[in-house]
Amino acid sequence: MRPIFIVIFTLAFICSCSAQDDKYKNDRDRMVSRQIENRGISNKTTLDAMRTVPRHDFVPPNLIDRAYDDGPLPIGYGQTISQPYIVAFMTAVIDPKTEYKVLEIGTGSGYQAAVLSEIVSETYTIEIITELYNSSSKRLKDLGYENVKCKNADGYYGWEDHAPFDAIVVTAAAEYIPPPLIDQLKDGSKMIIPVGSPFLNQSLILVEKEGEEITTTNLLPVRFVPFTRGD
Ligand code: SAH
Repeated sequence: MRPIFIVIFTLAFICSCSAQDDKYKNDRDRMVSRQIENRGISNKTTLDAMRTVPRHDFVPPNLIDRAYDDGPLPIGYGQTISQPYIVAFMTAVIDPKTEYKVLEIGTGSGYQAAVLSEIVSETYTIEIITELYNSSSKRLKDLGYENVKCKNADGYYGWEDHAPFDAIVVTAAAEYIPPPLIDQLKDGSKMIIPVGSPFLNQSLILVEKEGEEITTTNLLPVRFVPFTRGD
């Protein structure tokens, strides 16, 4: 091919890639303003992270066109990537700071972990389903989220080696709050966790630890996939 054509093809390719990125950037900005800010979330770092993470890279290829819709989406193995508003709500509640070390239980697609890692210095995330652990850890690595560490295990036990955490985010609904997770919270820190029966009557609970005192606050009715247990 003559050099001039190579240049033209290269430029056309670059333009089409950046047009794609722009398309998703607009979708993301619209998602944040309509679904998140409009519903009262104003935590700036959370909004910035939600405007940055390419949610379309975390959904199955056949659902890319719905990546910025106002709802959860299936990610295989009976699991879901949470609704953008819920991801933002949970992130804003723990009010993450740059220096935080955060634990997430339920990596799923890796999206919530990516949102956290845009804000905090260290994100640890645990997934019980090996296939999802494999795909999400590869995705996070490929997208350059180097400050996220993934583990394939039952998150009930937390991640003792890296405890205590500045915040814990649980993205599967447990029937009760796992005591090891409370133990792995730093003094003065928060956990957000959906609690309730599988697929029914669940509440998003904020757990705050002050010395020996544990306070729980019921924040929002929700519907999450169940917190399952390993052998
Ligand atoms: N945070 C995810 C949403 C995941 S859905 C995202 O952003 O895409 C909940 C996830 O929790 C599922 O992938 C499920 O397999 C996982 N899960 C359920 N019980 C678990 C447990 N005990 N330990 C770790 N992961 C668990």
